[in-house]
Amino acid sequence: MSRVSIPENFITQIVREDVEKGAVREVVTRFPPEPNGYLHIGHAKSIWLNFETARAFGGRTNLRFDDTNPLKEDEEFVRSIEEDVRWLGFAWDKLCFASDYFEEMAACAERLIHKRLAYVCDLSAAEIREYRGTLKEPGMASPYRERSVEENLDLFARMRAGEFANGSKVLRARIDMASPNINLRDPVLYRIAHTPHHRTGDAWCIYPMYDFAHPIEDAIEGVTHSICTLEFADHRPFYDWVIRECEMETVSRQYEFARLNVTNTVMSKRKLKLLVDQGIVDGWDDPRMPTISGLRRKGYTPEAIRAFCQETGVAKNYGVVDERLLEHFVREDLKQKAPRTMAVLRPLKVTITNYPAGQLEWLDAENNAENPELGLRQIPFGRELYIEQDDFMDAPPPKYFRLFPGAEVRLKHAYFIRCQEVVRNASGEVIELLCTYDPETRSGSGFAGRKVKGTIHWVAASHAVQAEFRLFEPLVHSDAPVMDAEETAVAEEHGFLQQINPQSRTVVTGYVEAALADPESGAKFQFFRHGYFSVDPVDRAQGGPVFNRVVALKSSFEV
Ligand code: ATP
Ligand code: MG
Repeated sequence: MSRVSIPENFITQIVREDVEKGAVREVVTRFPPEPNGYLHIGHAKSIWLNFETARAFGGRTNLRFDDTNPLKEDEEFVRSIEEDVRWLGFAWDKLCFASDYFEEMAACAERLIHKRLAYVCDLSAAEIREYRGTLKEPGMASPYRERSVEENLDLFARMRAGEFANGSKVLRARIDMASPNINLRDPVLYRIAHTPHHRTGDAWCIYPMYDFAHPIEDAIEGVTHSICTLEFADHRPFYDWVIRECEMETVSRQYEFARLNVTNTVMSKRKLKLLVDQGIVDGWDDPRMPTISGLRRKGYTPEAIRAFCQETGVAKNYGVVDERLLEHFVREDLKQKAPRTMAVLRPLKVTITNYPAGQLEWLDAENNAENPELGLRQIPFGRELYIEQDDFMDAPPPKYFRLFPGAEVRLKHAYFIRCQEVVRNASGEVIELLCTYDPETRSGSGFAGRKVKGTIHWVAASHAVQAEFRLFEPLVHSDAPVMDAEETAVAEEHGFLQQINPQSRTVVTGYVEAALADPESGAKFQFFRHGYFSVDPVDRAQGGPVFNRVVALKSSFEV
């Protein structure tokens, strides 16, 4: 799959107009994650949009860590985010940290104080909320709103010097307590947090709020188009206010698009963290997670994820994308790339009674019928084989074209075999099939004597390599994931844990062909009839490799 670029959308149209009328000389965008978790597929969309938009206009994109909340942030997340952006195939121009601008931000705050546009407020968080009013009622002025410039400068300096306890004071913008836009009712600019920061250590005990910090970060970096998701549309007037009143040299502008939602997928870092912390998954990179690292471990390719981002477009309204669309693109990508081999996930032994004991032959097998460049391999065939338990039925329903007593099937790349006898254990379970093969029917021999309807896969017992297979189902069941809203966090968390699918992972032990005894980490294969698999980069089972199923071969949903 070739490198995708960006199709025209409402954001590229805005950028194009700005470029054409000369309002913008160089297009600069940024991807601004908070390092408080691992990136997920929704972030991939934002990464793709920011990088491809800038690239389309010969501009550049910064990776900027929005590390203004030391309570939740960590170096581990910084490292994983860098790795994920790179893996997705994007190269940032500058690597930036909001915390590098703490000094400038504090200077901006002082400038606002001087302009009587900011004040230190002693109301508690609950009181601030109470005074803020509602959509229908205007807010009330804080009793601290009229503090003098001198008093505010002094108090702000002392906040910074660490004289006050967490929560005892904040710095607020002084805008309009009656504004119909609640975001303009004297929003908080700084809060006190006596918490060391993963980069600045103990240098600061006041930290800027996101809405104040973000426009300053953008302006300092010369970001021209600050792309964010729709929830921030109401924050835009405050964004513009900060840029204007802080007298920033670059006038950055914010544009909002609809965040990506995917069925059966949670996309809130808070909820994903809950899954990790509660041990519901093995970690952020568990293949069931919608994180970039989870998708990578499962076997997704950057090409497939980029194609998915491109195909789902850039919208102004919320929508939910069917997860099967993501699966479609990984299938499309692996169809040509992945060698096609055979694996038996739930083995049933077959003995070919008319095949000489000790004899072995090597049969030619194409690696990928759709991609001759992948060439041929040789697979061993002998008297004892494994087939899939599912490929045999004692009493089959009509139109069952696989093995049952008396039936004949084709073994992929090999011969026709006929089931002559069924061996059972003491409890009546089928443990072995005794079959005969027809030497005339060797694959590729041009045999036209008779036809069989079923073709099944197999592995020669003498050369079989034991392997573990991990099969996945959605981790959560939700057709319409709701947007993340902090206020409903608790209620939602409860509901969310109810949606967890207890059968999201099945582990089976079976066999692969000898050539797959020691595959490269992350190598991808199509296992005949089972789908696409990827070699787990972390775990190895006792007998051999661990294969994660990326996706089954077909879905009912094709685009
Ligand atoms: P979460 O709600 O999962 O914690 P977030 O928005 O808080 O995500 P940030 O680290 O702040 O995470 O996000 C970095 C960037 O990624 C932001 O610009 C944000 O708008 C964008 N982003 C996050 N989730 C999505 C999504 N589902 N679709 C598109 N963009 C997203
Ligand atoms: Mg966020």
